[in-house]
Amino acid sequence: MKRHTGQDRSVTRNWKPATQAVRGGTARSEWGETSEAIFLTSGYAYDCAADAAARFAGEQAGMTYSRLQNPTVEMLEQRIALLEGAEAARCTASGMAAMTAALLCQLQSGDHVVAGRALFGSCRWLTDTLLPKFGIRTTIVDARDPQQFADAILPETRVFFFETPANPTMDIVDLEAVCRIAKENGITSVVDNAFATPALQRPMEFGADVVAYSATKMMDGQGRVLAGAVCGTEDFILNTLLPFTRNTGPTLSAFNAWVVLKGLETLDLRIHRQSDNALKVGRFLETRVPRINHPGLPSHPQHNLAMRQMAACGPIFSFEVDGGRAQAHGLLDALGLIDISNNIGDSRSLMTHPASTTHSGVAEDKRIEMGVSEGMLRLNVGLEDPDDLIADLDQALEKVGL
Ligand SMILES: *Cc1c(COP(=O)(O)O)cnc(C)c1O
Repeated sequence: MKRHTGQDRSVTRNWKPATQAVRGGTARSEWGETSEAIFLTSGYAYDCAADAAARFAGEQAGMTYSRLQNPTVEMLEQRIALLEGAEAARCTASGMAAMTAALLCQLQSGDHVVAGRALFGSCRWLTDTLLPKFGIRTTIVDARDPQQFADAILPETRVFFFETPANPTMDIVDLEAVCRIAKENGITSVVDNAFATPALQRPMEFGADVVAYSATKMMDGQGRVLAGAVCGTEDFILNTLLPFTRNTGPTLSAFNAWVVLKGLETLDLRIHRQSDNALKVGRFLETRVPRINHPGLPSHPQHNLAMRQMAACGPIFSFEVDGGRAQAHGLLDALGLIDISNNIGDSRSLMTHPASTTHSGVAEDKRIEMGVSEGMLRLNVGLEDPDDLIADLDQALEKVGL
């Protein structure tokens, strides 16, 4: 396979992110196809036994088995690494496979992790339930305050783990400040960047060591497949992550990788339009609901920090009603255009009640501590005309007395 017929990789590395999203990592077969090929193969054949031995010994370039390498998956991995500005990236079957691998590959019994309290529900299950089962302790902090990370450090602390913006409270973490504290203390910072994607925020530019993704969200962007990715230095990916993923097998399928490759082609376009739409819808909702958590609005306590780290606010925000679960569910049931769905990053507008869906597995006291109230709703603003979304919200709010 030839990489970008006639083009040198040292040149392609310098392309800007929007170019990388369309072309980065493309490898063409002998047919010169313009759109990336899907290689649905689990194995690879060798010309002779010595070639097989050399490939297994790592002395000959090439693929051996699709749990370890696949040409379509590799194109996606290179594209994500180029978009992120990371030395290397590897894909996984889902975002949670990426988070689990990024943590477990580098931790062992006796280690300690400091994690932001506002995390995706399953990420909180990792920190609160899975890691302790293996003797890895976690301290949960309010990640909006960098000093809390510094104060939680123990001699055994190996990893800081957080997301920004955080799901669904939209807490913002000061990437530069927290990653600096990590570096000064020899701690690896692992950032879940699913909400912003590299099109809006590149944590490594602020000093992050590892950036992990649910590519299910904005990267696919059309609600089709599950996928994940972990980005880091070549040393981290080859020597720490790969031994874990190659042997445990959270492998992304070639077909799903291809779907995400297609999604990435329009990532820049979609995320900016969806951010614009989310801002319009947010400005409307702000006049009608008691509280809104929207990093693009000046009313967000960390608006300036968000706008310093992010190129735009992104498509997702949350808001709260005073009538608790009954009013929140009533509002969802009154929607006519926006779907009741717990997915995000889709080109369709979707709304969910986190306390009874995405965060229902988090104990109530922890939910309250995180700021996930019974009246909170999370909205993913899609690519529909924002006037239609506002009209739908307007009639639904009226039906529940708002
Ligand atoms: C969705 C999500 C995940 C999990 O990703 P999956 O692809 O659903 O496994 C992890 N972190 C954040 C912030 C998410 O939004």
